[in-house]
Amino acid sequence: MTANTTLELKNICKSYSEVDVIRDVSLEVNEGEFIVFVGPSGCGKSTLLRLIAGLDRPTSGDIVLNGEVVNKVPAARRGLSMVFQSYALYPHMSVRKNLSFGLENLHIEKAEIARRITDAANLLQIENLLERRPGQLSGGQRQRVAIGRSIVRKPIIFLFDEPLSNLDAELRMQMRIETSTLHAKLGNTMIYVTHDQIEAMTMADRIVVLRDGKIEQIGRPLELYTAPANKFVAGFIGAPKMNFLKAHINGNEVEAKMGLKFTPELLERPKNQPVTIGIRPESINVALDKPGAITATIENFEQLGAITYIYCRLPSDEMLTVQLTGRPELNQGRQMGVSLSSDAIHLFADDDGRALH
Ligand code: ADP
Ligand code: MG
Repeated sequence: MTANTTLELKNICKSYSEVDVIRDVSLEVNEGEFIVFVGPSGCGKSTLLRLIAGLDRPTSGDIVLNGEVVNKVPAARRGLSMVFQSYALYPHMSVRKNLSFGLENLHIEKAEIARRITDAANLLQIENLLERRPGQLSGGQRQRVAIGRSIVRKPIIFLFDEPLSNLDAELRMQMRIETSTLHAKLGNTMIYVTHDQIEAMTMADRIVVLRDGKIEQIGRPLELYTAPANKFVAGFIGAPKMNFLKAHINGNEVEAKMGLKFTPELLERPKNQPVTIGIRPESINVALDKPGAITATIENFEQLGAITYIYCRLPSDEMLTVQLTGRPELNQGRQMGVSLSSDAIHLFADDDGRALH
């Protein structure tokens, strides 16, 4: 642990009657960091956040907050605050009352409460909504009030559990940017849970990828994108998904079923084994007018204007997603040459999915 560490999780495990939901999670969060926990539904994100918040107790392991083990400290005394997916605003109270309520319970002075509400309302631009009730607000405005309720508490760490899931796509994008801007202004440590890899990629300083209660990889967004530690992370981060193609290592050479052979530099001593090649849709070169060494047949395509996605079938009968910029002339059934530049290829062992390259 460094002097800069706000939160440390040490070998955290959580089981509910025999079922291991969190399995040996260790993590250090630095002061001021924006950390995102991302993973598929049911992987344990909310459970982990609830353990940090103190709403639940770990089965084993330690939670260390600013150097102090807080396993037995109740939620209200941890100095954290949580924004839930449902917002959990009190419907019968005005926005102002929703913001002040928790502080009044902490016996904070009236003038100080008023000051904090003014500051938070300014920051979130909800000054004109303070006398309304939650039912009179749009989804985005409710979201801001829920965040405001966290801000006025002046927490050591902000915790967010999928706060944008209930918003439509456009508003989600706007709130993503607002949340990042808020983090830049406040400078607090924030831990944000989502199943949406785009939210993780766009907001995080560091991403923690979870699966089945275990950490698969921790890293900066582009580290995870360019150097995924395993096939799960490779497939989870990035949209459209990385293509996976069947291959086999023979001696020093990788032979892919689709008809490609190359000699990669491996991270470990090669043995003859089945492997999977990973290639991102934007890293595939196509020759639309001439079939190449490998010929693919276009089965479908989507033209979004700036970007075109092509879904094509390889000689191995595997499907390949290709991303091109611009608006090429395309039609179904057309053949095109495909090549993969070897420096863009990932390689994963089939036994446990670890990266080999
Ligand atoms: P996520 O937030 O990633 O979708 P959760 O943390 O909510 O996942 O849940 C992880 C797993 O733990 C799920 O399989 C869920 O059914 C289980 N779980 C969560 N809370 C409880 C509980 N109170 N009792 C039993 N099982 C639970
Ligand atoms: Mg959840």
